[in-house]
Amino acid sequence: MTAERDVIVVGAGFAGLACAQRLASANVDFLVLEASDRIGGRALTTTTVAPGFPLELGALMIHGKRVVTHAWLRELGLHAVRLPTMQTARFVRDGRVARFARLALPFHPTFGTRAFWQAVRGVPRDIRRYGGPDMSLAEFLENEDVLPGAREIVTLLRAHAAAADPDEVGILGHAEEDRAAQEEFGYSNFRLVEGYSALVGRRAGPCADRILRSRIVTGIRWSDAGVRLTARVNGSPEEHRAKRAILTVPLGALKAGAIAFEPPLPEAKRRAIEAIGFGAAMVIQMRFASLDPMRRLGDFGILSGGGASTFHRAYVRARGAPPVLAAFVVGREARRRADMTDAEALRATLEELESIVPEARRLGAVVAAEIARWPADPFVRGGYSFLRVHARLAHRTALAAPVDGVLFFAGEATHDRGEAQTVHGAIETGYRAANEAIASLAPA
Ligand SMILES: Cc1cc2nc3c(=O)[nH]c(=O)nc-3n(C[C@H](O)[C@H](O)[C@H](O)COP(=O)(O)OP(=O)(O)OC[C@H]3O[C@@H](n4cnc5c(N)ncnc54)[C@H](O)[C@@H]3O)c2cc1C
Repeated sequence: MTAERDVIVVGAGFAGLACAQRLASANVDFLVLEASDRIGGRALTTTTVAPGFPLELGALMIHGKRVVTHAWLRELGLHAVRLPTMQTARFVRDGRVARFARLALPFHPTFGTRAFWQAVRGVPRDIRRYGGPDMSLAEFLENEDVLPGAREIVTLLRAHAAAADPDEVGILGHAEEDRAAQEEFGYSNFRLVEGYSALVGRRAGPCADRILRSRIVTGIRWSDAGVRLTARVNGSPEEHRAKRAILTVPLGALKAGAIAFEPPLPEAKRRAIEAIGFGAAMVIQMRFASLDPMRRLGDFGILSGGGASTFHRAYVRARGAPPVLAAFVVGREARRRADMTDAEALRATLEELESIVPEARRLGAVVAAEIARWPADPFVRGGYSFLRVHARLAHRTALAAPVDGVLFFAGEATHDRGEAQTVHGAIETGYRAANEAIASLAPA
């Protein structure tokens, strides 16, 4: 048994690191327990696929111009560059290429005219205004008689961006989340020049001695008197005591019951854990000898054929850009591919790419690759949270709510103002939960 702390934070992803920063600046005696042997959670950068060019295996971009992540970069001496995401998006159907932003190359007679505007204006407006019974995005698109070209764009922006399939995303929760969001999603994206892992390292630096790795928290006993946490360390149990605990573990871990609470969490909290969906996402970074065979797509940044994988290029329009493609695979297909061997997962991904752009067959062998299987990671078990049919923002509020002034909750899934699913959202929840814990420690 270790000495009693004021606060123990469980998890050292962005929410946990934001907690640590805030607790340290308030001179609170705290410790962070992290299950993995590395910190950063769902943010992880690789430099092995294309040396000299950091590539992301988890969080890929910064979404938004004004979000807190930029303030962290400035403070910590790191940099971001704007990605021409939508200007360079390509949608391919039946071998014909359509550009998202320029309307010059329609693959569908109506693409770029009615279908394009229906996808970016009409459907989002109809979703926001919809007041009927809840249904999935897939059903909504069916009922609304959405044009085929529009359907693909809406699916990409509103289901795949949520790491979910269109038949899982609930239209009412999605509309609430859309209205609450700070910025219009999808249009201002940035790449971290040094990579997300550099940001994690710099933020953790000053409190590195307070972050204990390889501590898998398995049990939390709580009462008015405080909290006792049981962690597994290399197979052996370790006990920790604190006045307060802040849980930042992914929703996937809570859903799986990875931590036993004694007494059990209140009913409203358990209902929220059940109601909110937890999507699935995989990233496969692949380097080829050259991307020239896909020249027809132009200087593309994102390629979609409407299926489970979207192909991204982090270094589009960058000098000396390496011939690297990242497959971002979501939903049921991500869970299926996460169980495959490396060779099988690569094969399935390349087959999907070739089905969209047949000339991808001429790319030749993959020279180097890294595969991030988030659904198979025992400390994540998926991708990130989304509001499925019958889930609402109020469930996120219930997930975030403190329990008896002793247990506090952070992490992307607890963001109830439209910024869940993101790094900046996770940071904001970390600050919120740390503030709540600090306030609860102050003498009455
Ligand atoms: C493939 C992918 C792509 C993404 N792309 C983007 C993007 O482009 N932009 C963006 O903003 N966001 C993106 N996200 C989402 C973003 O990564 C997350 O929202 C954010 O990193 C979550 O931070 P967090 O602190 O809430 O959780 P996490 O980062 O998951 O941190 C939770 C920590 O808890 C630890 N933990 C789990 N169980 C236990 C336990 N029992 N005991 C102790 N510790 C435990 C985990 O190991 C982990 O380190 C992406 C996510 C994925 C998976």
